[in-house]
Amino acid sequence: MRGIVFVGDGQAVVTDELEVRAPAAHEVVVKMVNAGVCHSDLSVLDGTIPFPTPCAMGHEGAGIVEEVGAAVTTVTPGDHVVISTLANCGRCSACARGFPTRCRSSIGNMTRPFTYQGTPTFNFAAASCFSERTVIDAIQAVRIDPSVPLSSACLIGCGVITGMGAVLNRAKVAAGETAAVFGVGGVGLNAIQALRLSGAARVIAIDTLPQKEALARQFGATDWINATEVDSVADAVRDLLPGGKGMYNPGGVDWAFECTGVPKVLHDALDCLEWGGNAVAVGVPPASAQLEKSIFTSFVYIDKGIMGCRYGTARPHHDFPMIAELYLRGKVLLDELVSQVYPHAEFHTVLDDMHQGKLARGVLQF
Ligand SMILES: [Zn+2]
Ligand SMILES: [Zn+2]
Repeated sequence: MRGIVFVGDGQAVVTDELEVRAPAAHEVVVKMVNAGVCHSDLSVLDGTIPFPTPCAMGHEGAGIVEEVGAAVTTVTPGDHVVISTLANCGRCSACARGFPTRCRSSIGNMTRPFTYQGTPTFNFAAASCFSERTVIDAIQAVRIDPSVPLSSACLIGCGVITGMGAVLNRAKVAAGETAAVFGVGGVGLNAIQALRLSGAARVIAIDTLPQKEALARQFGATDWINATEVDSVADAVRDLLPGGKGMYNPGGVDWAFECTGVPKVLHDALDCLEWGGNAVAVGVPPASAQLEKSIFTSFVYIDKGIMGCRYGTARPHHDFPMIAELYLRGKVLLDELVSQVYPHAEFHTVLDDMHQGKLARGVLQF
């Protein structure tokens, strides 16, 4: 069958020499229809996310259930599903509390369900959505309303939930609060639309590419800052939301969502907070990245905080159908995130277009 395999040294091959094993009792085979190419896929290729080879790539996809194991009761062949990258256990304390992203079995559980040219081949993010078929744990197959086009639904499983979940699940932004979003890509746009849904009073979008402004405003940004046109992003945010006179630099936003993974930008996110504000670290930096800030003036004396957020602190079986429903009611934009749909074989063209900053999201079609 067809697939895209990471073979090391920054190289990915488009192949028809990939095979996947039959499902175990608790597993599901999904015939992929569409898959989004996410920045994390680039991070596998460039080594930012170290991964063994060969590896069947992709982690943001949607398709149709083709076969189920003997013990699977949650989906049946023909169901339209979005794939969750969380192969969580469903039974531990974290799962029971509604935090599958904190389940110990939701990370690092690599297996080799594929073969490429006869060699056992790893899955990526327990998903491997760039394969014609993939085998996943039943808990990862999240059924959605089949009237949502799969070319848009596929984005729910990474970019959409990562951005929307940071706002709705991790921060729980309240109506009337203010926020800044750093990085207007696939994740940042979804943070912006979740802030619109939450009733945030001001949503300041910040990026270095001027062509991102129109899309940011379409998704719900009320203000725009081009970071290349100001000396200090934090000062530019405070110009929009001044806090009056006082010690410790008052003014700024209640929430800052860092969606770029660039360590310096997380500093900017902390520096633009109003007293009592919180920064949410969403973007994935290099593993060696460190943060150095004054504990006194950045945190203790003004009630500020910082929180990490993995995969939108997602509860996939609640969040994915909810997002699909909000899409069908016109409250969440998905089609607008898809810059272009490419045939599966044109994977390398998508990579070129991403490197040139042309895409909110490129989507592969099988
Ligand atoms: Zn992703
Ligand atoms: Zn668990």
